[in-house]
Amino acid sequence: MPEGDTVWNTARVLHRALAGARITSSDFRVPQLATTDLTGWTVRESASRGKHLLLRLDAPDNAPWTLHSHLRMDGAWRAYAPGERWTGRPAHLIRVVLRSPGAVAVGYHLHEMALVPTAEENQLVGHLGPDLLGADWDPAEAVRRLADDPEQIIGAALLDQRNLAGVGNLYKCEVLFLRGVSPWAPVGAVPDLPGLVALAQRLLAANRGRWTQSSTGSLHRGQTTYVYGRRAQPCRRCGTAIRKEELGERVTYWCPVCQPEQPGSPTTG
Ligand SMILES: [Zn+2]
Repeated sequence: MPEGDTVWNTARVLHRALAGARITSSDFRVPQLATTDLTGWTVRESASRGKHLLLRLDAPDNAPWTLHSHLRMDGAWRAYAPGERWTGRPAHLIRVVLRSPGAVAVGYHLHEMALVPTAEENQLVGHLGPDLLGADWDPAEAVRRLADDPEQIIGAALLDQRNLAGVGNLYKCEVLFLRGVSPWAPVGAVPDLPGLVALAQRLLAANRGRWTQSSTGSLHRGQTTYVYGRRAQPCRRCGTAIRKEELGERVTYWCPVCQPEQPGSPTTG
């Protein structure tokens, strides 16, 4: 599941493959960029901001531009050596191909693709809260934004990228389990919000640089999470069956014993 750490990793892959390279051909397969041609442009750097990818380029006239993409649930970028077989995803999911002398970057099922002057990046990412993996990570500001809506349930507030940028559904479920907080608890009732935010940051940071996301410390298949994806399996702490319910537009996983329920949750509501 693409969360902040996956996007951070993806940005690094693109950076290693393309930074400093001149684009020898580009092939955009999305309507809004169908006529865009980046041939002769130079890749300056690749960066992430929350779950957004920012590929920064210099046009032939040296003007700085940013190619923005978002992975949402299912997008991916892959970098291949020239001539290497593309094994990432089916070809019909390809949204862009960028070729350089040393690498081919292929974007699959990307969303929100846009090419904007770098000076206008903020139109695309300026709404985001502090980036958990950003150089300018500001935990106090993230806590302030979360606490700004004390009635909001924490399971939704953590996913709201305007509060803090980078937490997706997996880390949301895991952080709430580790802190013993019900996903349905109002933000105002969460004890030690700064501790919860700090844990979310540590989990994402610990998973940088690898593709297997783990909150347990184990990288063994089936042992990487406490609750996420473990419906009806026994809680690793108390043995109670893990529950799965809809929460807003997403599902959430939790242990009804380790995370005591709140008024309004599906079983007490
Ligand atoms: Zn439990």
